[in-house]
Amino acid sequence: MKMYFQNEKVCASCKYYETRRIINSSCIEVLEMMGRCSYKDGFFNMNTFNMSTCPSWKRL
Ligand code: SF4
Repeated sequence: MKMYFQNEKVCASCKYYETRRIINSSCIEVLEMMGRCSYKDGFFNMNTFNMSTCPSWKRL
């Protein structure tokens, strides 16, 4: 379990990341080590780590 800032450009805080996370006004708590990218121009359908990133990152 780890915390990330809303504007941190990593998968953990990306709109297209599928994982278990708790989102509040200032930060995001990710409950898993990995997640899945659901964006076709990102790493579509691949498992990525919370700290991974790509140019298609989008804020939640
Ligand atoms: S690979 Fe890119 S688009 Fe996919 S979840 Fe991570 S930052 Fe978002």
